[in-house]
Amino acid sequence: MRADFDALAAIGATPDGGVDRPSLSEAHLAARAWFLERVAAARLERRVDGAGNHSAVLPADGPTLLLGSHFDSVPNGGRFDGALGVIAALHVLLAVQASGRALPVALEAIDFTDEEGTLVGLLGSEALAGTLTPEALLAPRGGREALLAGLERAGMREEQLWTARRQPRSLAGYVELHIEQGPVLERAGVQIGVVTAIVGARSFSLVFRGEAGHAGTTPMTARKDAGLAAAAFIGAVEEIVVRDFPGCVATVGDVQFEPGAYNVIPRTARVALEFRSTDSHTLDGLEVALLERAGDEASRRGLGLDVTPVGRWEPTPLDPGVCDAVEEAAAELGLTSLRLHSGAGHDAQALAGVTPAGMIFVPSRGGLSHDPGELTAWDDCVNGANVLLGTALALAGRR
Ligand SMILES: [Zn+2]
Repeated sequence: MRADFDALAAIGATPDGGVDRPSLSEAHLAARAWFLERVAAARLERRVDGAGNHSAVLPADGPTLLLGSHFDSVPNGGRFDGALGVIAALHVLLAVQASGRALPVALEAIDFTDEEGTLVGLLGSEALAGTLTPEALLAPRGGREALLAGLERAGMREEQLWTARRQPRSLAGYVELHIEQGPVLERAGVQIGVVTAIVGARSFSLVFRGEAGHAGTTPMTARKDAGLAAAAFIGAVEEIVVRDFPGCVATVGDVQFEPGAYNVIPRTARVALEFRSTDSHTLDGLEVALLERAGDEASRRGLGLDVTPVGRWEPTPLDPGVCDAVEEAAAELGLTSLRLHSGAGHDAQALAGVTPAGMIFVPSRGGLSHDPGELTAWDDCVNGANVLLGTALALAGRR
């Protein structure tokens, strides 16, 4: 497994120890070509579907238990995010194959297309689950041109994406091993995370509308300063979340003032707001509290406020039966585990709608991810792969 992990990490490697493999880039396609060769050499079946998802299959007479993650990375990302889950899945298949044991389910190690959203986000997993929408393809995150260019590079056709859809009854479940990408496991000194849910997120573009004016001649009491309203709001976001919504996170990730000069009072302030929770009622409450506060800060200064929703992802609970199987597999291996939710999005949230889905986390050094310095101790990677194997056998045995 280490040899395969390192071989993959060399594809699109960056000088500082990370990888640069955005979805359907040359490096990503090279990683997929490497994977298909590796799968053929292992005498497993290869499968590439209409959404470009690449799989190794250990066939059996029964539904398919999917194990996987993604080979694509964020620009200048780390070696572990996504890659670990696919390589470990491949090695679960190899271990079962080597044991000669016949399972009542087919095992499929799958690399989903465009998990990271350089193009669309969860493109391959949503296509497989049947939740991909034409709208998502017309106005994708990365822009329509980038999507079309990526599809062409990969030899894919847009109208073929829909053929990746699988019937739920053809699936026995989905399990994904992934690095935590946060500090919870490391801080707790625990080896395995049992992921109970994936957070939902909402994002809004807020524009405070005031009046520009001369920064020297306009008295402080005669201003409609959009920048000050934005600043007060940003401070309030932290206060509201910490005080009233424990367990949630909220972020103002960008602010732009216009006209934007030393000597002009800001006429408008554009604020990028995002917040996350595992519970949709909590998200509702947080949305009301944050938007009300934005309105208060605007009216206090006689400003206008435009609110535009720009993203909405529902929280996804993962399957309790799969959670139990992960927890038991960890315990059988003598590994410590704790239950936690994922603050980041994953392919499992697309799969959870059509088949029992679960996730296994392993610790991220310093909680660091989406960075070349991303690191998980190799022992932890192996622990995660063994828990994935144990979980797959347990789920297969339940059928
Ligand atoms: Zn990932």
